[in-house]
Amino acid sequence: MKKIIFATGNEGKMKEIREILSDLDAEVLSMKEAGVEADIVEDGKTFEENAIIKAKTVCELTGEIALADDSGLEIDFLNKEPGIYSARYMGEDTSYRIKNANLIQRLAGVPDEKRTARFVCAIAAAFPDGTVKTVRACMEGRIGYEEKGANGFGYDPIFYLPEYGCSSAELSLEEKNKISHRGKALRAIKDELR
Ligand code: IMP
Repeated sequence: MKKIIFATGNEGKMKEIREILSDLDAEVLSMKEAGVEADIVEDGKTFEENAIIKAKTVCELTGEIALADDSGLEIDFLNKEPGIYSARYMGEDTSYRIKNANLIQRLAGVPDEKRTARFVCAIAAAFPDGTVKTVRACMEGRIGYEEKGANGFGYDPIFYLPEYGCSSAELSLEEKNKISHRGKALRAIKDELR
């Protein structure tokens, strides 16, 4: 059976990834399961560049097909901040309670129609013959006025989905996967792997 290695150390993500890729005729392994130990520096300027850096490194180290994702939150009023720096915004160790409160404060007085934002996810697939493919998907929404919901992670409590009337932290994992940037990008890269 073909092996596919996903360049992440995040078990939560691996669960989601395995479920979505389960109908591929392939064994999907995390970096740890594949015995890969690498501290990869994500110094790309775009989500795609960072995903490619990670996927290519793991492909070169293992000789197997490697996938990697890079994601983040773009807020239009803040010139698409925090963008590729979403995890590092205000410091990697700063809690999301503080990061979220800070973003809400930076949008104080900004009306609904200017609070547009999106979660972006790029996924890269690197193949042993040197070929690289990328896909990108988004989930559109608005920055809310307060944190809401206890599901999800990161910026989910301030990400309001007007058509659902709730934040993405108020959706179940299953509901979020159906519409999320990562869910959509995973389904798109699956088509590239077939
Ligand atoms: P990474 O792609 O795992 O490096 O994630 C980048 C960062 O973007 C995360 O640490 C979160 O801050 C943010 N982010 C990406 N996707 C989501 C999401 O689905 N909900 C909330 N925050 C997210």
